[in-house]
Amino acid sequence: MTASSRNSYDEFVTRYHELQALFDNALDAVIGMDSTGCICEWNRHAEIMFGWKKEKVLHRSMAEVILPETGRGGFIFNRRVEMTALRSSGEEFPVELVVTPVVVNSLSFFFAFIRDITERKKIEERTAEIKKAYAFVDALLENIPDMIFVKEVQNLRFVRFNKAGENLIGYSRNEMIGKNDYDFFPTSEADFFTSKDRAVLQSKTLVDIPEEPIHTVKGTRLLHTKKIPIMDEHGDPEYLLGISEDITERRQAEEDRHRLRQERLARAEAEKALALRDEFISIAAHELKTPLTALNMQLQMLGTVMPELMGGQTPRQKIFVELMKDSQENLARFSGLVDDLLDVSRMAAGRLIIEPVEVHLSEIVNRVIGRYTVALRKAQCEIKPRMAPLPKVHWDPVRIEQVLVNLLTNAMKYGVGKPIEIESKLEGETVVLSVKDYGIGIAREDQERIFERFERAVSAKAFGGLGLGLYISKQILKAHGGTIRVESEPGFGAKFIIELPLRSEWNGI
Ligand code: ADP
Repeated sequence: MTASSRNSYDEFVTRYHELQALFDNALDAVIGMDSTGCICEWNRHAEIMFGWKKEKVLHRSMAEVILPETGRGGFIFNRRVEMTALRSSGEEFPVELVVTPVVVNSLSFFFAFIRDITERKKIEERTAEIKKAYAFVDALLENIPDMIFVKEVQNLRFVRFNKAGENLIGYSRNEMIGKNDYDFFPTSEADFFTSKDRAVLQSKTLVDIPEEPIHTVKGTRLLHTKKIPIMDEHGDPEYLLGISEDITERRQAEEDRHRLRQERLARAEAEKALALRDEFISIAAHELKTPLTALNMQLQMLGTVMPELMGGQTPRQKIFVELMKDSQENLARFSGLVDDLLDVSRMAAGRLIIEPVEVHLSEIVNRVIGRYTVALRKAQCEIKPRMAPLPKVHWDPVRIEQVLVNLLTNAMKYGVGKPIEIESKLEGETVVLSVKDYGIGIAREDQERIFERFERAVSAKAFGGLGLGLYISKQILKAHGGTIRVESEPGFGAKFIIELPLRSEWNGI
């Protein structure tokens, strides 16, 4: 040190000594360095902090004394920096340090103010850990698909609310927090929720609510909720934690499954009942057929023999002859019904057989009209056939006649006193045959189902019948590769339209 620098330094030291008491009482370590970085001052706190007595460090490089080897760079002036410092014991510890240059009589000195920040670092680390733990819990709450809410116990106001809850209820957490159930839900619902909350807080145990409806912005939902009291350090409830699972869809799916099961059961029952009915019809029709055929023959014999035997034409004999005729007609109708039942059971069992032969359609039509001349007259139905000349067709004449009889008798039954038109034409290879009446007609909603078994569109009281004629007709035509449909306006009659290929092969049904 030169003489002038010595003077300057002494002057500075004199000033410094005036401040020494202050430095020594300072909580920070204060270290003075000369322009070469050697220690020229070392306060009491520096001794405590670094474990070196002042005399042991005077004139040594400050960096070498207080910094570990790896951390020795240059100092930045007038800026707080955090560094790792070294105690005499070799222990490293974190410090905050400010180096301030001081110029006295154009000589530079440096003062380092150093604070041990071990405790602060610990607190910072702990705080960071706690923050991380909070963030983790937050992330957990946010990602749990169930609604999670926390209420304070005094007024049961929401203090936490997760994303699933926002989505479920339809309010943001900012809207929910600080408010309670009465701010969002109908009073009866809020009363229910609150009563459960109070029960949880009173019992200090978990309460499970398996099913509770809740009004949300998107409509009513069903929740399965668990409510749990959160205790403070004295064991008293401080918060109420709620976890609610939205079970609306699950309940709906369960109900749907239940309904489907019921429907399947009902269908199975109905099918079983239908099978029983079919079996019964089949047995009954077969059992009836034999005595009916015999009765028919006997009546016919009686019809021819009795008038001869009795002779004469007395009024009583005339009555008897009329009775015989009526009996025969009734028996024929009865036989027709039994035949229909037999056909239906044959069709259900897939035993309908058709035997196509070469035949003229006009022959079939004329035969039917001929058979029903009397009936047509009785029903006061004028018949108007308009038959286009057709080549021979290849159909089962008995079965097609059966179809025409069904349509004609229906036209008479449902259109008494009105004319009936029978028309045929050829469209390519298809014969289009129609039977039109001007009777009661058929409502649109019934026009399909009347072709099914036992389906009728009229009351049994108003019109007798089993609802089988159209079903049988449809099956016969189907077996020929043909179709039948109806066009009708209620009150304006009905037109049944048959389409049949000129040549049918048996389409077994
Ligand atoms: P049924 O006449 O013996 O009841 P069908 O199978 O022949 O049985 O007819 C089924 C139903 O279709 C009838 O009950 C009736 O409601 C309706 N229907 C059939 N033909 C006619 C028609 N020409 N006019 C009005 N309704 C008809």
